[in-house]
Amino acid sequence: MALIVQKFGGTSVGTVERIQEVAKKLIQFQQQGHDLVVVVSAMSGETNRLLSLANELNDNPQGRELDVLLSTGEQVTIALLCMALEQQGVHANSYTGSQVRILTDKTHNKARIMEIDDQKIRNDLAKGHIVVVAGFQGCDEFGNITTLGRGGSDTTAVALAAALNASECQIYTDVDGVYTTDPRVVAEARRLDKITFEEMLEMASLGAKVLQIRSVEFASKYNVPLRVLSSFKEGGGTLITSEETEMEQAQISGIAFNRDEAKLTILGVPDNPGIASQILGPIAKQNIEVDMIIQNTGHDGTTDFTFTVHRNDYASAMSIIKAAAKTLSAREVNGDDKIAKISIVGVGMRSHAGIANTMFEALASEGINICMISTSEIKISVVIDEKYLELGVRTLHNAFELEHE
Ligand code: ASP
Ligand code: MG
Repeated sequence: MALIVQKFGGTSVGTVERIQEVAKKLIQFQQQGHDLVVVVSAMSGETNRLLSLANELNDNPQGRELDVLLSTGEQVTIALLCMALEQQGVHANSYTGSQVRILTDKTHNKARIMEIDDQKIRNDLAKGHIVVVAGFQGCDEFGNITTLGRGGSDTTAVALAAALNASECQIYTDVDGVYTTDPRVVAEARRLDKITFEEMLEMASLGAKVLQIRSVEFASKYNVPLRVLSSFKEGGGTLITSEETEMEQAQISGIAFNRDEAKLTILGVPDNPGIASQILGPIAKQNIEVDMIIQNTGHDGTTDFTFTVHRNDYASAMSIIKAAAKTLSAREVNGDDKIAKISIVGVGMRSHAGIANTMFEALASEGINICMISTSEIKISVVIDEKYLELGVRTLHNAFELEHE
């Protein structure tokens, strides 16, 4: 029998009626001949409710006790789901993360899974039971409860699927899959039947709304086919899987975008070894994440240097750069915190020339100026003025005909 791991998110188990619906669905799957391991999140809103309780009593709730608190949300849903299953005559056992023994490191609030003991789960499956596991949690080597970071139930599901060698890990959520771009920006955005792990990781800004990105990294590493599908709507969802070479690939699979970016430029710095690290070193020391980095070809012994950061980090990055500019006797520092980034993503890019040109022409036809460009093997990103973001995304969606399969 094929073993499947299914994960149901907070809205899918948000009321007792919905838990009952999930139970019915699981029974149908079991009757089709599947072995089922089910991972659930806390009921929707519950993790936030627990967090706000913590905030009422402590200015900075964190660490061990926060994990003890937050892990209870999922403990409620595993028990309720098993009760619903038992009520319908199906045997089911619930396990918290530490009862399974999902062993993690000691990093409270964002622990990483290190090892899973599959013995109890396998024993239960052999008896024909459905196994229900609390998402988002595990324990460290001393038995302290840990949690995996917000959205961590997805990662629990993938890790279980990898440990149990499941044929698929299915993530049931409130959207019916991964789209070519955000449907709120482009009404014609289309659900993708299939996408590769690599593409999904590059589209993190789109994907993060659907899945915890760490779960995709995990699935990619252990080659677990991952499917996102709706709890409420019929359909095959989107399968995220490794690249199949024999398939004809679309040139572009999707368009991701980031609104909240800012860029900083330091002009006329000496074109000497070590300059880049003198500029970016202090930025990294402040834990500011840098995205794109561009250095111009030097002339007359000097060069210009531009990089982007999240808009929230703009002010602190600017003051660091101003200090660096003095030390380096740079000519000028400037910046812009009203920029946005658009990326086209597709593994098909590897085998098609001219994609970049199609992108640049399309943007130019709408009079959209490109401030920065960066590329990777399967992605081309441009930085543009924030006010053209929606227009840019729509234009590109059109230019690459993403509304058609
Ligand atoms: N309940 C946790 C959260 O809200 C984990 C999850 O749902 O994946 O972040
Ligand atoms: Mg989630």
